[in-house]
Amino acid sequence: MFTFVAARQKPLIIPVFIPHLGCKKLCAFCNQRDVTGVTEPSLEDVENAVKSYLSWSKPRERTEISFYGGTFTALPHEKMMNYIRKGAEFVENGTVNALRCSTRPDEIDEERGEILKNNHFETVELGVQSMSEKLLEKMRRGHSAKCVEKAAELLKNAGISAGLQFMTGFPGETEEDVMLSCSSLSVLKPDFIRIYPFVPLKNTPVCNDLEAGKLKMESAGTILERTAALFLAAMKLKIPVIRIGLPQSSDVPKVYPDNLFQVVVAKAIERLAEEGEREFCIPESFRTSFNMAKKRFPFIEKL
Ligand code: SF4
Repeated sequence: MFTFVAARQKPLIIPVFIPHLGCKKLCAFCNQRDVTGVTEPSLEDVENAVKSYLSWSKPRERTEISFYGGTFTALPHEKMMNYIRKGAEFVENGTVNALRCSTRPDEIDEERGEILKNNHFETVELGVQSMSEKLLEKMRRGHSAKCVEKAAELLKNAGISAGLQFMTGFPGETEEDVMLSCSSLSVLKPDFIRIYPFVPLKNTPVCNDLEAGKLKMESAGTILERTAALFLAAMKLKIPVIRIGLPQSSDVPKVYPDNLFQVVVAKAIERLAEEGEREFCIPESFRTSFNMAKKRFPFIEKL
């Protein structure tokens, strides 16, 4: 029997986008300004965003403010501390439970880990993208796979949950590149991962190269298969996958089906059925995917 895992507790995450702030250079695929549609938020913007989110969202057991879309720990120190203090006000008055942020693996060290730990940050998401050195270079990431290992370990040692963000389907990616990311999970032991299948965002070097015919986009089917492989590698290690795909917006080209998460999970179940697995223990949230896979493999069972 194969047992799938889902995130045990999904906090309400209030996103505060800091598009590209702290990024010393831009990765080949990234255009946070178009994806998020915002520029640098002032402290007042942060306060208003949090209050407005809380006014319309359904209450959940846990609420966290997250600084996303840039390299939070590479912000100039005072700017980072100002955002931290603003977020901490909400934790200290009991409105939210914790803070979190995303950052680059080469922009976290013991000192910054300590600052986060001492200021209500319980989770840090590292933009990893791939554990293939070759692909990291093509993506113009500017850090190595080894650096990801160090950063994940550092967060664990600091007592901070580590989430890793991967990309699948970057032009030029090979099956071997994906396998390197899959096999790295047992070493990195993240608390959760997110997977972003590649989308060509306008005004990025990779999109320009695709338009000029210098690069070729992998087919959506191939990218979905690779995403399913990474998803499955996480499931085998009982690592929850908390999101697959970018939020939809008019600036994000539509490459994948709307029910991307369900499709990927269904592909993972089908892959296991092809390998001979017949019995599955699945979280309620994966039921639709199981029913999708059952159309191809009617003999599989949910226990
Ligand atoms: S992927 Fe991350 S590090 Fe790279 S440009 Fe985008 S926000 Fe900055």
